[in-house]
Amino acid sequence: MIVLSVVPSPVVVRAPSKVNLHLGVGDLRADGYHDLTTVFQALSLSDDLRLAPAASLTVRVTGEGAAQVPTDRTNLVWQAAVALAHLAGRAPLVEIAIAKGIPVAGGMAGGSADAAAALVGLNELWDLGLGRDELASVAAELGSDVPFALHGGTALGTGRGEQLLPVLSRNTFHWVLALAKDGLSTPSVFRELDRLREEGDPPRLGDPQKLLQALAAGDPHALAPLLGNDLQAAALSLKPELRRTLRAGVGAGALAGLVSGSGPTCAFLCETEQAAIAVAAELAGAGVCRSVRTASGPVPGARVLDHEAH
Ligand code: ATP
Repeated sequence: MIVLSVVPSPVVVRAPSKVNLHLGVGDLRADGYHDLTTVFQALSLSDDLRLAPAASLTVRVTGEGAAQVPTDRTNLVWQAAVALAHLAGRAPLVEIAIAKGIPVAGGMAGGSADAAAALVGLNELWDLGLGRDELASVAAELGSDVPFALHGGTALGTGRGEQLLPVLSRNTFHWVLALAKDGLSTPSVFRELDRLREEGDPPRLGDPQKLLQALAAGDPHALAPLLGNDLQAAALSLKPELRRTLRAGVGAGALAGLVSGSGPTCAFLCETEQAAIAVAAELAGAGVCRSVRTASGPVPGARVLDHEAH
């Protein structure tokens, strides 16, 4: 008898970044976390992951900020592979190559996006047939931004950001992203916000109701003044130079600018794709950031691009 063993072909998955259109941060809880009310939008700036069968679990990283990304068990894709293999009752024998486009420690949830993409890719590579709900419960254990990276689109997040409700969003919005020289660690930005709140009473965002209406109407002019981030004051306190970046983007013609998540990436909403290209060009020449990207959103969550031929 001839036994043919078929080695599955590598799978390529695209992992979207996110911007928080609204990020309301509650007080520090006894467990060390903060309650969040956030509206996420998945953006076209993304990482691509290639997953291939291998004799052991390995992670390789190339592209944007690759030198800052660990390739051991502290990488979230490693943890995703181990968690999914455990669920499936198999060994995590896979080589994962990450091509980074999302800035590392940039407040755009790049690591979370990679973890979501690893779950989607391994479900395909190992032919597990798990549904989105099953993947979402593994995602929630990996980190509070991972479920959104799986979900994509536009969504309202509560709890630590992991309890999601889809949000109606008409039209595509156009963004310019100003990437900073160094990253900001998310825990340090939350700590700085706690400190600022102990010292004084920085203004807090209200509920996102009007912002949700502007999204449903698909009107960037209505959306622009409603964008807000309670972490922005803390990110600006740690990196005061971001004030110049924000001013320069609006001065270049963006409708509004805000710090993305815990920063330091600044995101600028523009009226059209052409306007975004013009704002990006001006910002790139202004010397207020390391580099500039244009992006659009909402885009789908982590998804398989293709099955590579052998
Ligand atoms: P957050 O999701 O908390 O907003 P962020 O978007 O600011 O985080 P990430 O790019 O996700 O930042 O990375 C935060 C840290 O996580 C990095 O400094 C890195 O050490 C670690 N990390 C683990 N896995 C990855 C990954 N696959 N890609 C990037 N960073 C990773």
